[in-house]
Amino acid sequence: MTTETFEFQVEARQLLQLMIHSVYSNKDVFLRELVSNASDALDKLRLEKLRDDALDADVSDLHIEIDVDRQARTLTVRDNGIGMSYEEVGQLIGTIAKSGTATLLKELREAQDAAGAEGLIGQFGVGFYSGFMVADEVTLVTRRAGEGQGTRWSSRGEATYTLERVDDAPQGTSVTLHLKPADPENQLHDYTSEWKIREIVKRYSDFITWPIRMVPETGDGEDAPEPQTLNSMKALWARSREEVSDDEYHELYKHISHDWREPLETIRLQAEGTFEYQALLFIPSHAPHDLFTRDFKRGVQLYVKRVFIMDDCEALLPPYLRFVKGVVDAQDLSLNVSREILQQDRHIRMMQRRLTKKVLSTVKEIMTKDAERYATLWREFGTVLKEGLVTDSDNRDALLAVASFATTHGEEPTTLAQYVERMKDGQEDIYYLTGESRQSIENSPHMEAFRAKGIEVLLLTDAVDEVWVDAVGEYEGKKLRSVAKGEIDLDAEGTEKAGEEREKQTEEYSGLLGWMREQLDEEIKEVRLSTRLTVSPACVVSDAHDLTPALENMYRAMGQEVPRTKRILELNPGHPLVKGLNQAYQERADRTELAESAELLHTLAVLAEGGQPKDPAKFVKLVADRLERTL
Ligand code: ADP
Repeated sequence: MTTETFEFQVEARQLLQLMIHSVYSNKDVFLRELVSNASDALDKLRLEKLRDDALDADVSDLHIEIDVDRQARTLTVRDNGIGMSYEEVGQLIGTIAKSGTATLLKELREAQDAAGAEGLIGQFGVGFYSGFMVADEVTLVTRRAGEGQGTRWSSRGEATYTLERVDDAPQGTSVTLHLKPADPENQLHDYTSEWKIREIVKRYSDFITWPIRMVPETGDGEDAPEPQTLNSMKALWARSREEVSDDEYHELYKHISHDWREPLETIRLQAEGTFEYQALLFIPSHAPHDLFTRDFKRGVQLYVKRVFIMDDCEALLPPYLRFVKGVVDAQDLSLNVSREILQQDRHIRMMQRRLTKKVLSTVKEIMTKDAERYATLWREFGTVLKEGLVTDSDNRDALLAVASFATTHGEEPTTLAQYVERMKDGQEDIYYLTGESRQSIENSPHMEAFRAKGIEVLLLTDAVDEVWVDAVGEYEGKKLRSVAKGEIDLDAEGTEKAGEEREKQTEEYSGLLGWMREQLDEEIKEVRLSTRLTVSPACVVSDAHDLTPALENMYRAMGQEVPRTKRILELNPGHPLVKGLNQAYQERADRTELAESAELLHTLAVLAEGGQPKDPAKFVKLVADRLERTL
C-alpha cells in the first residue's frame, strides 16, 4: 500500500505547535478528549445501526478500551464505534473546521504570557490534537462502519501527516500515543501508570455511558487477566444532587460543550408525572465566538432513557437561550424520533416552556444572590437574552426583570426596577437613547436637556435594542421613550409662563422655520423649535412612531425595502447661531448664503448624533469655503 504525505492546514499547524509546546498546564485532559471522541463515535454507530439495520457493523459490545505498553511507552485508546473513511480522516483530523479559530489564534499570538494563552486555548477544546501535549508521535487506525478497508494516519505533529490504506483494520478507531520520554523529575505525569490512567478516567470520564475498559498489568508468566471497567457509567442527571460533586458536573459540561472552562451555573430539573424527563443544563461562563453567526449550533443533547439520540436539539430551548448547554433525558419518546417530529410534539413544547422558565428563574436567582456572577452572565449573554424580549412575549416580564442596561446614572449597569426607583418626581416615562457606542450616545445633542435637568437616560448600544424597545413599549406602566423621538417636554407641568414664552418665540421664528423646511425638503419634514437643547444649535429627531435611522439601515441590510423616513429638525432658539440666522432671514433679500447655512446646520445635527452626511464632499467644500473666509 502506498503512503501519501499531506500538509496540515495553516491553522491546524499553529494549534499543533501550541500543543507541542504545551501552553496548557494540565496535560491529563488529553485522555478526556480522546475518550470523549471515542464515546461520540459509539453514540454515532449505535444511532446509525438503529436507522439502518442492514449496516454491516457489530453493535453487540460497544466499548472503549485503554491499553498501555510500558516497554514501548505507548498508550492506545480504542473504540469499536463509527470510525472514519479515508477522506474523513483527512478532513476531520487534518483541518480545523471550527469557526472563530482564526480569531482565536490571532489572540493567542498576541497573548504575551502563558496564563493568558492557557485561558484562550481553554475557550474551545482542541480535542484530538491535545494528544501532542504528551506524545511526540500519534498514530490513528480507523475503519468506517460498513466499509471493508481502513486507514492509518500518522504524524509527529510537525508540518505534515501521512495517510495509508490498510486491509486489516478492526471496526472503529484506535489512537496510539507514542509518549514523550519519561521525566524522572515528574512521576506524576507518567501516563504508562495504570494507577494514573484509572485516576484520570475516574475524574474526567466517569459519567461516559459506555464502558471504558483496561486490562490490568500482569507479572511475567501470569495469564492475561480479564479487562476491568474503570467508569461507573452512571448518567449524572439521573443521580441525586447529593451524590454528585460540582467537579463531576463540570466534567460533563466540558464533554458536551467542548469548552475547557468551568460553567457559570449548573441547572438541574427533574420532571415527574405522565411525561417524565430529567435535565441537566449549564450556563457557560463565556460566550462562544460564533454565537451570532448563522450556523451556530444551538440546543442541548437529547437522550431517551439514557440513550444518546441527538446533539444540538433545537426544539428544547428557544433561540435566545442558544448558549445554554446540557442534556435532556426523556422517558417516553421513541428512539427513532426525528428533528421534524420533535418540532411538532406537544410534550416537547411543554418541555421547552418549562426549561425556559427554569433557566430564567435561575438567572434571576443568580442576580439576587451574586452580583458579580450576574454581571458576568449579563455581559456575556445579555445581548442574546434581549432577543427574547422581542420573540417570547410569554416570558417578557421575566426577561425584563433580569435585564440590565448602561445608564447616565453611572458606570454600573442598572435594572429597570432600579431606574424606576430613581425617577424624579413628576417623571412619568423611562427614557433611553440608542446608538453605536456609549460615548456617541452620551455626547449626542438629544441628551442636553436631560443632562441639564439631571434626568437619567438608558444608553442602549446593541442592534437588538432598536427592536425590543418598540416591541416592549412599557415597563410596569411606564412608557419607554426615546429621547430622540417625538416632542420632549420636560416642563410638562411647567409654568404657564414657559408656555407663553414658547408661543412668542414660535411666532418670532415662524418665517425662518417655514423657509428652512422648504430648503431641506428632501430630508426634513418639519423644522421646529426645540426644548431638548441647551448647548447645541440644532438636532434631528424622529416622530414617535417612525423608524430610527439605525433600524432603517438594519432592514436594508437584511434586504428589505423601506421607504426613507424624513426626519424633524429642531433648532435651539437660545443659541446665537440660530438667533443670527433668524436675523439674517428677516433682513436680507438674497438668501443664497442663508440656504447654505441651513444645509450646514442640518448636516452638523446629523453628524452630532453619529450619522453620516448625505453628500460628504459637498459638506466639506461648504465648510472649507467658510473657513477660508474667516482667515
Ligand atoms: P472535536 O471532537 O472537538 O470535533 P477533534 O479534533 O477531537 O474535535 O475531532 C475532530 C473530528 O474527528 C470529530 O468531530 C470526529 O468527527 C472525528 N473523530 C475524532 N475521533 C474520532 C473517533 N475516535 N472515532 C470517529 N471519529 C472521530
